Amino acid sequence: EQQRRLLVVSNRLPVVIERQADKWQIIPGSGGLVTALAPVMRQQKGLWIGWPGCDEEAPLGQLLDRFAQDNGYSLAAVPLSADEVERYYRGFSNEALWPLFHDLLGFCRFSYDNWQVYLDVNRRFAQVVTEHAKADDLIWVHDYQLIGVGDQLRALKMPQPLGYFLHIPFPAPDLFRRLPWKDQLIRSLLAYDLLGFQTQRDRRNFVNTATSLLSEVEVVSRKRHYDVLQFEGRTVRVGHFPISIDFDEFDNGARSKEVEDAAWYLHENLRGRQLMLGVDRLDYTKGIPERFLAFERALEKYPELITNISLMQLVVPSRTLVPDYQNLKETLDQLAGRINARFGQPEWNPIYYVYRTLGRTQLLARYRTSEIALITPLRDGMNLVAKEYCASSVENNGVLILSEFAGAADQLRKGALLVNPYDIESTADAIYQAYVMESGERLRRMKLLRNEIRRHDVHHWLDSFTQSLYSS
Ligand code: UDP
Repeated sequence: EQQRRLLVVSNRLPVVIERQADKWQIIPGSGGLVTALAPVMRQQKGLWIGWPGCDEEAPLGQLLDRFAQDNGYSLAAVPLSADEVERYYRGFSNEALWPLFHDLLGFCRFSYDNWQVYLDVNRRFAQVVTEHAKADDLIWVHDYQLIGVGDQLRALKMPQPLGYFLHIPFPAPDLFRRLPWKDQLIRSLLAYDLLGFQTQRDRRNFVNTATSLLSEVEVVSRKRHYDVLQFEGRTVRVGHFPISIDFDEFDNGARSKEVEDAAWYLHENLRGRQLMLGVDRLDYTKGIPERFLAFERALEKYPELITNISLMQLVVPSRTLVPDYQNLKETLDQLAGRINARFGQPEWNPIYYVYRTLGRTQLLARYRTSEIALITPLRDGMNLVAKEYCASSVENNGVLILSEFAGAADQLRKGALLVNPYDIESTADAIYQAYVMESGERLRRMKLLRNEIRRHDVHHWLDSFTQSLYSS
């Protein structure tokens, strides 16, 4: 099946297009998905379709051609107007689907107009797919911004296998029912041949939602790796494929001289204190305020932690124009300020709160040298930071405290300390337990975590999804 060309469809193209001085540049993206897909795309001369994320002035055709020459695979752009970005992306995707699928109904804003624009834009993506697809391509659509693409392709009787992967969680039936356009969205999902979710629970939530909303959906069989549904005379397979990272890349990167030096320098300044690390995009799903409160509670409850541990919280700016995100930033500033004022001493800061994007070396140095990672999202599709921390913990002495509501908890429950991020008291206890954990126990747990992530890396994720799609 390596001969079949992969046609990937995602909201954003895997590039950044920008003007530097007077010249336009097209720079390959650096996210995990791009890193995983690029070699396969190159080998098969694949095609990636998405929104270029630049304004109309850019000489797009020329830039995309240059990308294809340099990278060995092609891009096709779906240009969007500012109003479409506002309604399809910011409005519907990020203010309706994102909070709903993360179980945070209070942040949802449902607008009929935005929903209509979401459908229009999804139709346009499908059009660009039909313009470019070849008969024996594998078509693979990604994530919550593009649920409706499959529907449109099915209506056009596209013969290619249609795959879809949801990177975020899928909510339980009772929550999903709140969406005013619930039936239509479920029908859209059922238009694909293969549906991939992050965890077994997301997959179960989807199957239960589909069967409870639409009486025509029939569960034909439940296998270990996937469920088989029948809908409108077609077969739909539903599986779970936990996304991952390139383990070797982090493992090797963390062992490099540069990272080792940067890590040494960090710890030198800490004088024997333990460092506890949090790394998140600014997002209300990440549970950062609750995390600060749990740390505060730990300092109250276990005074020996005072001056002996610091929380370093990195927050990567994200969705900066959305009011909910601006409010969250303010809450974090205030909480960190209050806790530092309450417990801080001249030579010791409880919380280092850093609001910016970090370079690779600096990020790996923090992963490698932090004795504890405190990763407590209220809900998260997977959480790659948890896996990156373990892959970079090359001395095997890190402790991972992980929310049971992160997709990653499914695979990492054996080595991590799992917590309920809403339970401030127990999370405080877990911080103390991690702090006093002996090196033998740390080693035992970290080995389990690293083995699991090494075995199920991002290449394994990609292979298992495309193999399943091929046999659809
Ligand atoms: N990350 C980054 N720059 C930083 C800090 C983190 O690019 O300064 C990356 C990190 O390495 C990880 C990603 O951001 O790959 C976050 O992925 P995750 O699945 O944890 O959360 P998401 O942001 O997708 O919700």
